Amino acid sequence: MKEKKYLLALDQGTTSSRAIVFTTDGRPVATSQKEFRQYFPHEGWVEHDALEIRDTQFEVAREALAAAGSDAGEIYGIGITNQRETTVVWDRKTGVPICPAIVWQCRRTAEYCDYLRSEGLTEFIRRKTGLIPDPYFSGTKLRWILENVPGARARAEAGELCFGTVDCWLIYCLTGGRTHATDVSNASRTMLYNINTMDWDGELLELLGIPESILPKVMPSSGLFGMTDPAVFGETIPVAGVAGDQQAALFGQCCYERGSVKNTYGTGGFLLMNTGDRPVLSKNGLLSTVAWQIGGKTTYALEGSVFICGAAIQWLRDGLGLVGYAGESEKIASSVENTGGVYFVPAFVGLGAPYWNPHVRGAAFGITRGTTRAHLVRAVLESMAFQTADLIGVMQSDSGTFIPSLAVDGGASANDLLLRMQADLLGKKIIRPGCVETTAMGAAFLAGLATGAISSAADIVRERHIAAEFSPQISPAERQDRLDSWHRAVKAAAVFSE
Ligand code: ADP
Repeated sequence: MKEKKYLLALDQGTTSSRAIVFTTDGRPVATSQKEFRQYFPHEGWVEHDALEIRDTQFEVAREALAAAGSDAGEIYGIGITNQRETTVVWDRKTGVPICPAIVWQCRRTAEYCDYLRSEGLTEFIRRKTGLIPDPYFSGTKLRWILENVPGARARAEAGELCFGTVDCWLIYCLTGGRTHATDVSNASRTMLYNINTMDWDGELLELLGIPESILPKVMPSSGLFGMTDPAVFGETIPVAGVAGDQQAALFGQCCYERGSVKNTYGTGGFLLMNTGDRPVLSKNGLLSTVAWQIGGKTTYALEGSVFICGAAIQWLRDGLGLVGYAGESEKIASSVENTGGVYFVPAFVGLGAPYWNPHVRGAAFGITRGTTRAHLVRAVLESMAFQTADLIGVMQSDSGTFIPSLAVDGGASANDLLLRMQADLLGKKIIRPGCVETTAMGAAFLAGLATGAISSAADIVRERHIAAEFSPQISPAERQDRLDSWHRAVKAAAVFSE
């Protein structure tokens, strides 16, 4: 028998499948990644081929193991993290999907969600699930499949079909069809799972017409889900950690205390706050969700998202040609001391929490004859920080918890200037970890804890490598002044778009 050395994270994202081999103290040893096809069969519809997801995921896992010079025998356990809410339905016996996977972005159930809202069910659903009725979540996607795929409902009622989010699908495939299970964090994104009772909700299943037999068993995020089939990696490996991508990133960022927060600056922004052992219901349109469950203890989170974050930098590059590549935004914006009084509102597709205004569109204010490309680029970067500051503000007031600092990751977190602005606008310390693969790291840690490769969360914190910290440099008065100007800009943009 080989000595165990590593943890294997499977990071199944929206556009690619990735695998990373980690040491038990969270250092990446080898990575492999493969993109897969996106299908857009109708306006607003997005689909994936679940078999392609499986095949690319297995392929990159084998490649990462080979690149690490390792084999299955050296792996303590597998951690899975995944694009959330994407819905797969397959034949329980053959493992063949009965239709394409419906991706989280797919809006095909918008009308049904409008109906749920018009029936006054928003609060009913929110109190049970922490979510709002929206096509984003899996429940209405599953309902659509049962209603529209010929024979699906009858087969589901006869117990012949399995539903799962992508984690659940991969667990089923990895274990050779022996395990039909998901973890609490993924279950909490289905709009069928009651986050107070921590069980599938009978009333919601009835409302949406979902037979319980199609649902997976819900398990803690860290624990033994099953052993991989020997056909997959040669030797068996325990599948021992599972969490949805944002929750896994929160875990990978060591946000283990109530009030700890991480923000991912990607195409969009994803802010999650650990709210401890109870769900907090937001008054400002944030979602309440399960972060993870370990050793019988459930941890909850508040979640808010910024629709346009790094996407605004893409627009500077592709739409305006003001920067040649995303990283150049830092160089250009650093050539001026400030934005010269320019405020930019990146409301390309409306604004989310705390504004929830789908009609507002982008705007720039305070432009003078002296405004240069550098001022505008800097104002766009600053808008990413302002939006994050707004979300942190409502998280603090919704939870009544003081947020001491912010852990960051995602593509744009490489931008030091952005993080300095963020520290200034929040009046809080910003922490950038050495390894920004926090999503995969979180999944690996969950598997590490379950298999004994890591003995406690305290050990993870002790081994944590912080690459950079940014502290606020401006006075509270100046901070307030700039936030006030930003809020005036958002208001003015909203008035224009009325
Ligand atoms: P996603 O996973 O959402 O596709 P990533 O985490 O890979 O996104 O981040 C990519 C985004 O970050 C892009 O929108 C890009 O414009 C932005 N970005 C990347 N590097 C920088 C940078 N140095 N400064 C500002 N924005 C950046």
